[in-house]
Amino acid sequence: MLSRKRPLFDGYEKEPHLHSKKCLTNLNILDIHQSSRSNKTTQHVTQRTNHSRPCTHESYANGETEQLTDTKNFFEPISSWSDTQNSGKKVLQHLKFRQATSDIFLNELVNKKFLEFHHDISEECGAEDKQHSWAVIEKQEEIVMYGPYYPNYNNGEHSEDTIIKQTQELLDSETVSEDWKVYVFTMNSPCLARNTEPCMLNLLQKSQEWWSMYRVKTHIGYVRCWGFRGTKENLFRDLNYKQVDCIDQTEDHESYVKAAEKSSDLNALCENLYSAVKHLLRSENLSFPLITSVQGQDWRTYFKSMKSIYECKPEDEKKVLKQEVNIVIEAAQVLLSEKSKSFRDNLEKGQAFALCEAFISQVSETTQDQMRLMFQQCWREMIQDKYVEFIREKLTEDFNQCTVQLFIKDILDFTKEFLQIGRIQFFEEDSKAQQVFQ
Ligand SMILES: [Zn+2]
Repeated sequence: MLSRKRPLFDGYEKEPHLHSKKCLTNLNILDIHQSSRSNKTTQHVTQRTNHSRPCTHESYANGETEQLTDTKNFFEPISSWSDTQNSGKKVLQHLKFRQATSDIFLNELVNKKFLEFHHDISEECGAEDKQHSWAVIEKQEEIVMYGPYYPNYNNGEHSEDTIIKQTQELLDSETVSEDWKVYVFTMNSPCLARNTEPCMLNLLQKSQEWWSMYRVKTHIGYVRCWGFRGTKENLFRDLNYKQVDCIDQTEDHESYVKAAEKSSDLNALCENLYSAVKHLLRSENLSFPLITSVQGQDWRTYFKSMKSIYECKPEDEKKVLKQEVNIVIEAAQVLLSEKSKSFRDNLEKGQAFALCEAFISQVSETTQDQMRLMFQQCWREMIQDKYVEFIREKLTEDFNQCTVQLFIKDILDFTKEFLQIGRIQFFEEDSKAQQVFQ
C-alpha cells in the first residue's frame, strides 16, 4: 500500500473551505447522464457483447505470477512520490535547471473526447472554474457520464474520491467489456500531497486495478496543474523582500550567503531555492500587474502611516491636512490600473507621482515635503510587498507545474498500457494548430 506519513514541508496551511454542492456529492442521488448518442450503436454492440469475454479477476487467475510481477514493477517508480519530502526536493532540483517545463498534453483523439464531454457537461450544469470532477464510462452502446462532484474540505473529501468510488461501483455492477474506456476530468490535476493518500496515487493505483481486472483503460484530463498545493506545500511562504533583493543583487549562491551573513535579519535560502528565485528574477519581461495584486481597500492600508502627518496637529489644521492626505491617496489609485510594469517601473511611478502637482496645496512647504517622503515610503513598501507576493505565487505555480510534469514523465513508461494523463487543450489553444492543417 502507498502511504505518506510525513508532511511535505513544515507548517500547515488550511485549504479553503468549500461546501459541496447539495446533492452532487451524495452518491445515492447521483447524477448519471445517459448520452443522446446511446441508441445509435446499440445493435452493433449487442453483437459485440456476445463475443466479448468479460474480464474479471478469475479470468486472470492463471496469470497470477505475471500479475504479481506487474504490481511490484508498478509500485517501484511511484514509491518515491509517496515521500513528498524527497520528491519535493527532486522537483526543486529540476526547477533549478528549468528541466521538464513543457506541458504534457493528451493525445489528439483523447483530447477531442474530453472536449465533447466537457461541452455536454457545461451545457447541462453550467461552466465552472473552481475545482470539480466528473467522469465518463464510454461503452460501444452508450456513454455514462457522472458528476460533477465538488470537494468537501470539511470532511476531507476531494472530488476525485467520489469519482473513484463511483467508477468502481459502476464497473463492479456490470459485465465489463474490454472496449470500455474510463475518462476522468478534474479541473485541477489530482493532488500529490494530502493527509491521507493523495488523489494522484489513488487514481494511478485504481487505473492499474481496473486494467488488470477488467482490461479497461483510464484517461485523466485536467485543466490546471495542482501538484503539491493544498495543505502541505509552503515552500516559498517565508520568502520576503529582503531575500529577493539580496538574491537579485548577488552573482551566485556563495556571494549571496556571504551577504546574508553580514545582514542581521536575513536567513539565507538553500542553493536550490536561491537558483529558482534567481532564475525567475532573470527572466525577461518579469512584470506584475498592480491592479490584480492590490485589490479592494487593501492598498489604502499601506498608506495608513500617513495619518501621523496630521494626527498631532491642532484641530483646524488637522482637518485641512487630513483632507489633503486623503485626496493624495485617492489620486494615487489611478496608478494601480496602469499596464503591467516591472518592479522598478512600478516603484518609480510612485516616486514620480509624489513629486507631481497632486501635492500642490495650501499647506506649508515643510509639511508638503513630509507628505512626499511619507507617500514615497508607503508606496515603496506596498510595491515591495506586492512584488514578493507575486514572486511567491509565480514560483509556487512553476514548482507545481514542474511537479506534475515530472510525475507524469516518471510514470509514463509503465502506465502507457492502461493510463493516459495530461492537460486538456481547449479550442482557443487548439485553433492555431488546426489552422495549419486546414
Ligand atoms: Zn486530492
